[in-house]
Amino acid sequence: MKERPSFPAQLNRSTAKIRAPASPAAQMPAHGIGLDSSAVRQHMVRRLASQGLTDPRVLAAMQQVERHRFVDSALVNQAYEDTSLPIGLGQTISKPSVVARMAELLCQGVGGKLGRILEIGTGCGYQAAVLSLLAGEVYSMERLRGLHEKARDNLRYLRLPNLHLLFGDGMLGYAKGAPYAAIIAAAGGDAVPQAWLDQLAVGGRLVAPVVSGSGAPGQQTLLVIDKTAQGMRQSVLEGVHFVPLKSGLA
Ligand code: SAH
Repeated sequence: MKERPSFPAQLNRSTAKIRAPASPAAQMPAHGIGLDSSAVRQHMVRRLASQGLTDPRVLAAMQQVERHRFVDSALVNQAYEDTSLPIGLGQTISKPSVVARMAELLCQGVGGKLGRILEIGTGCGYQAAVLSLLAGEVYSMERLRGLHEKARDNLRYLRLPNLHLLFGDGMLGYAKGAPYAAIIAAAGGDAVPQAWLDQLAVGGRLVAPVVSGSGAPGQQTLLVIDKTAQGMRQSVLEGVHFVPLKSGLA
């Protein structure tokens, strides 16, 4: 496994500096002596709460998962900013606010933990780790072998027995684990693949970015689909920006 510097070690390096946060209340000590990543995450969680994210389960999961362990060491000082960051092979780790927002949508109306869920687009594995704290079982699919392996390396130390990483084309879903209490996609296509709708349990919810017909070319919106006994109920939410959903393996 690739050695990762721990967060304090990175901060204590003479060259490493945390970027000045926007809010003066969140000013960090100049050279991070005694600063641990939990305090930086707490600041991130407070910011999420101030943006209107309220689900205590989601906020606790965001507090717990160390996002800096999922990005390259050169980007560690940006790990808790609300920004997407490159993770290699042209892909990005989603912004914390987007991960939290989608997780909150999944948890809405569900008491306690979600059941078995499917994530499309493991990427570096960060969101998968967050989801593993919110659900009984998580299947996470990635179509790029390099990222599937990177996620496996990133996640090894966390030892999450309920998280299953799969190398495969998520457009086909993963029928063996179906039906899912929830399906979440971290990549946006022109439409929601039928396989996802088929594999969603009745009473389950799907959250996915989809390229919207209107607006600028390639513009995406967040879609929520609830599968009910009477059929699918769809809500179109805010505009979002995700990497494209692609078919096949690479
Ligand atoms: N949640 C991830 C975000 C990764 S970006 C994280 O926390 O890092 C989205 C990922 O979706 C990319 O890695 C991309 O390769 C993957 N992806 C795109 N189309 C896919 C498909 N059909 N099946 C599986 N993964 C796919």
